[in-house]
Amino acid sequence: MKTLAAIAAELEGYDPQALRASGVGDFLSRLVEPVASRETVTIFQALGRVLAQDVISPISVPPHDNSAMDGYAFAGGQLAAPRTSETSLRLQVVGTALAGKVWPGRVGPGECLKIMTGAVLPQGLDTVVPQEFVTAQDSAISFPARLLQPGDNRRKLGEDLMQGQPALRQGDLLTPAALGLLASLGMGQVAVWRRLRVAYFSTGDEILSLGETSREGAVFDSNRYTVFGLLSRLGCDIIDIGVVRDEPGRLEDAFRRAALEADAIITSGGVSVGEADYTKVMMKKLGDVAFWKIAMRPGRPMAVGRIGEAILFGLPGNPVAVMVTFLAFVRPALRKMMGSTATSTPMLRARCVEPLRKKPGRTEYQRGTVSNAPDGSLQVRAIGNQGSGVLSSMVHANGLIVLHHEQGNVAAGDEVDVMMFDGVI
Ligand code: AMP
Ligand code: MG
Repeated sequence: MKTLAAIAAELEGYDPQALRASGVGDFLSRLVEPVASRETVTIFQALGRVLAQDVISPISVPPHDNSAMDGYAFAGGQLAAPRTSETSLRLQVVGTALAGKVWPGRVGPGECLKIMTGAVLPQGLDTVVPQEFVTAQDSAISFPARLLQPGDNRRKLGEDLMQGQPALRQGDLLTPAALGLLASLGMGQVAVWRRLRVAYFSTGDEILSLGETSREGAVFDSNRYTVFGLLSRLGCDIIDIGVVRDEPGRLEDAFRRAALEADAIITSGGVSVGEADYTKVMMKKLGDVAFWKIAMRPGRPMAVGRIGEAILFGLPGNPVAVMVTFLAFVRPALRKMMGSTATSTPMLRARCVEPLRKKPGRTEYQRGTVSNAPDGSLQVRAIGNQGSGVLSSMVHANGLIVLHHEQGNVAAGDEVDVMMFDGVI
């Protein structure tokens, strides 16, 4: 477990007062460690969990050569020369192979077997002519030989997975496809890392919980609900500590409880420079915490560190800044803590339909809507109001346009990076 000072010493040009967005990722990846505790779950409980074992295929899938089509199976060597465009192959049908049953006989030269999709190809048969290609007469078929190559329409033993080969790796996220793959190997249970426990609370005396009566100068707590949604999407266990008043005793209780119960603590509010409240004081008192000014927009201030064994992410208060700092920094760090090897969110490139103003020297995350242009290519439009408190524009956007540190103004038609929300928020 490294101290913040030790991590800071490893990073070249680390300046907590003017940290680049890329530097935040570097720092956090050195701060957090995977929670190394396994549990075995059934396949139905495994969706979204992170695999804690390599899965070596105990069988080959498919377990035998089989037909990819309804048609007629034969030995493909008979397609060999001499062939002209008119040559047609005529074969005697000697039986029918159905899926799930093994046809017991032998098929010789000049013969074929009527076969259904998925049925085992008997020894010596390697090619299937689809039934729509053939003309059937009595108990024989004929078809133009030029339509096929030897081996066509055969699914080979082990072409999906070969026995003894790794099918999935430790650290893989179990997607719907991965659940199907496990089942195809006959596995109904799997070892996963235990769920990450994340405690969350909102700070600020102006913040009202749902159900409280509104009063002048107060706003309803929205961050607790966006963070709840973001953490739920990640599959974390959430410990909701509520809204914590700006009183040293209450803040101390909240931090101590969170540090005892959770692997990570997320707070919102109270970390900007001008803050008069006790949030920063208490973070400093209870933990090893750094206070950053990040060269980014929105979301400049952020506190990071450790309280007890738990990792602290002290996010800014502005609702959009909370979501952006979560997506840009907290999510990859939590993914690493979850044991996942895929920590970064993939970006795509889209053509920006209008000019964007951007100052070099900070990373900007602009809410945007990505769509297909009439020619099918991807285009993105920034949403009108980019204010860091304007949560409604986060609702209408489907991604964040990421304008990198060095980047300047964007001209209409320039390509930009976009982090899509789909599956993430
Ligand atoms: P702060 O970072 O504490 O200075 O807060 C910045 C802005 O975000 C202020 O306008 C706060 O009222 C607002 N804010 C802070 N916490 C929340 C919250 N949980 N829900 C909604 N708005 C908040
Ligand atoms: Mg505040």
